[in-house]
Amino acid sequence: MRPACIQFAHVLAWLLMGMAGTALGAVDRAAPSRPVPNVRLAGLEYLDAAAFGARFGLTGSPAADGRTLTLKSAWHQLELEADTRGIRLNGVRIFLGEPVRLARGRLQLGRIDAEKLLTPLLRPGAGEAQLPLVRTILLDPGHGGNDPGMQNRRLGLDEKTLALDTVLRLKPLLEAQGFTVALTRGDDRQLARSKAEDLQARAALTARTNADLFISVHYNSVESGADRVSGVEVYTLTPQFQYSHSDPERADSTVGIANLGNRHDHWNSLLGYEVHRELLRELKASDRGLKRGRLAVLRLASCPAVLVEAGFLSNDTEAAKIATPAYRQQVAVAIAEAVRKYAAALEGVRRQRADQP
Ligand SMILES: [Zn+2]
Repeated sequence: MRPACIQFAHVLAWLLMGMAGTALGAVDRAAPSRPVPNVRLAGLEYLDAAAFGARFGLTGSPAADGRTLTLKSAWHQLELEADTRGIRLNGVRIFLGEPVRLARGRLQLGRIDAEKLLTPLLRPGAGEAQLPLVRTILLDPGHGGNDPGMQNRRLGLDEKTLALDTVLRLKPLLEAQGFTVALTRGDDRQLARSKAEDLQARAALTARTNADLFISVHYNSVESGADRVSGVEVYTLTPQFQYSHSDPERADSTVGIANLGNRHDHWNSLLGYEVHRELLRELKASDRGLKRGRLAVLRLASCPAVLVEAGFLSNDTEAAKIATPAYRQQVAVAIAEAVRKYAAALEGVRRQRADQP
């Protein structure tokens, strides 16, 4: 059920900052010269997509029918289409919490999507007073012990084994970059007897190990259409007041609850984007998108967190690739590179702030 009324009790500091820094002097025919009031559509707050882009120096005009809009800057390209949650940023597929809408003849973005998902990608650190450090990284190979995870019986593959192998390949790559690496499991075991307790125990290790990042590694499966479905998808925690990717019926009654992991929405988004982008680049896999879910390990993590689904074991062609050490090494290399870029982005913001009195 959707809450009858969603109250946003406070004005976020970044919003003021964003409005103050509009357009960076760029001439933008698509963006109005005066501030555009936000609109309410289907009970949700939306803001003008072109005006939002202009805050980050993104400009562009809608297609003739007004239903698609490509906004570009020297750094970014954002592609939007009416009535779909799937957008592209720099060619990478990202699913919004709310579909882009066409209203008053202009494309509109859900306010939470603009704030929580896109702002961190267009201007990392915007509105975030605290910049997290990246020193200790907790890696989580999915499943283990009596829980094999997904299986491909034809090829004799267990997700738990492949996930552990991938993480053991990733660990030295991150250590070589100077990070301290901890593991939720380094062998074939469960952390607790029940599935729920096992997931809680993994998330609890983020606090116990003082982790600055949490990365859970999985391989995927579908029950129907196995030969058609392949590729990579990456999950970050669904922001408060939004529905998860897997919940188009909007059945989640916990939608209004802020989970522990929501303290890191901004950095979750940046981390998820970097990881997804590097996996696509390295694996040349089908782009299933950056998605949001209220997965237990993401909800309960005390630091920025991401869950990687690095290919489908249910697809025999992809499973045969996943079965090779070379593929799993590529997954590890991609995640290590994403962490490097994430940490570099943070460092860039830190330096920029140090330069400004
Ligand atoms: Zn899994």
